Amino acid sequence: MSGMKGSVAPVVPGGKDVFSLLPVGGFLKQSLNDYPGRVSAVIYTRGCNFRCVYCHNPELVLPEQLSRSEPVDNEKLFAWLSLNRVLLDAVVFTGGEPSLHRLLPECIMKIKALGLEVKLDTNGTNPAMLKLLLTEKLVDYVAMDIKAALDCRKYSMICGRHCDGTMLEDIRRSLELLHNAAVPCEVRMTLLRPYHAMDDVVELARLVRVPFFLQECRLGKTLQACAGKAFTKEEISRMVDGSEPNGGNVCSR
Ligand code: SF4
Repeated sequence: MSGMKGSVAPVVPGGKDVFSLLPVGGFLKQSLNDYPGRVSAVIYTRGCNFRCVYCHNPELVLPEQLSRSEPVDNEKLFAWLSLNRVLLDAVVFTGGEPSLHRLLPECIMKIKALGLEVKLDTNGTNPAMLKLLLTEKLVDYVAMDIKAALDCRKYSMICGRHCDGTMLEDIRRSLELLHNAAVPCEVRMTLLRPYHAMDDVVELARLVRVPFFLQECRLGKTLQACAGKAFTKEEISRMVDGSEPNGGNVCSR
């Protein structure tokens, strides 16, 4: 992939622009919440390799809902970004799971050619893609969601699919990439009973060496009828305090 930097408007065989091939399921024109300190547009890619119980975007994840939803017109999306780039600092790629899409690097190149920064939200299961994006300086900020302590049973319970040792190893490799990255990175975990407990936070606090945010779970529209119970802000604060001796990077959001 070296030599990608500075190329213009990648085109795939057949004359189609790469951006038109990225499966996009949603587009937010302006957000103040998705990239710290930046005004960003948000692109929601379709498809995910997880089925998290608390996922708020089932329409981007479940095949039966994907087939019912209208895909976004990428040409119009890109034209809007091009025309309004002065209103923005950045574009956030989220999902779904953006790192699943082979053409993501080329699509990001087009965004960068507009003079915009790029943030990636990922579940960390594709360290090869993450490494490429970091090496080629195609991302300016990475936020990785960690779902549970790195244990096959715990990960499988929350992700709604079997997570084996290979997948957990990929997640570890992604964490390692974040630790060594030259750009700001963060790890986030959404907490839900009975899937998480203090011990999990303490264990992860030892592993995560970038800012590690614990988040409340917003129940409501979720991928699975969610039998879980959200932790309160006070309970999350106690987890932050309890993890302090094992890692000074944990905070609540
Ligand atoms: S919450 Fe889970 S299922 Fe939903 S998009 Fe993120 S990783 Fe995929």
